[in-house]
Amino acid sequence: MPLSLSRRAFALGLPTAGLLAAGQSLPVRAASSQSAPAITPLAQVRVGRFTVTALSDGYADMPYVYFPGRTPEQVEAAAKAQFTARPGGVRFLFNQYLVEDGSSRILIDAGPAGTLGQTGRLPQALAACGLRLDQIEAVIVTHMHQDHLGGLVAGGRRVFPRAEVYVDRRDIAHWTDPAKQAGAPDYLQPSFRLSADLVRLYPNLQATQGDHQIARGVSLVDLAGHTPGHIGVRIEDGGQSLIMVSDMLFPVVHPTMGTDVNFLMEADRPAAQAMRARFFPRAAEEGVLIAATHMPFPGLGRIVSDQGRLTWNVADWAYQD
Ligand SMILES: [Zn+2]
Repeated sequence: MPLSLSRRAFALGLPTAGLLAAGQSLPVRAASSQSAPAITPLAQVRVGRFTVTALSDGYADMPYVYFPGRTPEQVEAAAKAQFTARPGGVRFLFNQYLVEDGSSRILIDAGPAGTLGQTGRLPQALAACGLRLDQIEAVIVTHMHQDHLGGLVAGGRRVFPRAEVYVDRRDIAHWTDPAKQAGAPDYLQPSFRLSADLVRLYPNLQATQGDHQIARGVSLVDLAGHTPGHIGVRIEDGGQSLIMVSDMLFPVVHPTMGTDVNFLMEADRPAAQAMRARFFPRAAEEGVLIAATHMPFPGLGRIVSDQGRLTWNVADWAYQD
């Protein structure tokens, strides 16, 4: 059975433990349940005293017309060259990251939870780590788009009953503003509705602003542009660091195609372009390990300068001693 399960997963384009282990040398733990319909992808790296576990809520294919600044043909050709082309568009993953140091357990983002594509697998991924939802002590929401906060409010419930939730106050102001909602296109309406649910279901919401340390070695980083209060999270300990940059990067287009290309959901396109133009060279110079929501699982890599051109370099798993 394990072999036929792998084959079926491969045919569906799902990551499987065997494929990742052979292709990328990343340690991937499969769910042990015999009856599980698909393998649960998990991957872990250490950052000083922290263990960072990549989880997946699922995937969706973004139509080639969703990338203003490039023609659909240009995006499709690049996606084909990078094996992320699907009949419906560019394959986007929804990665979340669990950060643990033995005394605290912080989740970064919560996925679309069934509101987009083939998603809703985060609870199963946490269960595969041996965790119940009430064991998550904090959730950082990098911004209030539906594919990052949906999993906190799925089914109109407070999904993480004991979690402290952190969101940048500029995003709260934007996504709870009735005038902004009235003027927004249909495809942004779910994000407004789910943001209202988030504020209602988590009355103890921690509204932060820009750069802000929330625990020793865990800092929010101002990456505003994709949304007004878009943030990243820097995990730092023992001279090692990782930045979860959320939607600074998209498969196929960033950073290889440049910073003058957007994603449909970006309301302030010049602001998104300006932040990428600042961030990409800085990240390349630092050589910092990056985790990105929509990159192929587990979304880990670096921005590197290849003969003067900035490009995404997938991180191989390595022993750190
Ligand atoms: Zn996103």
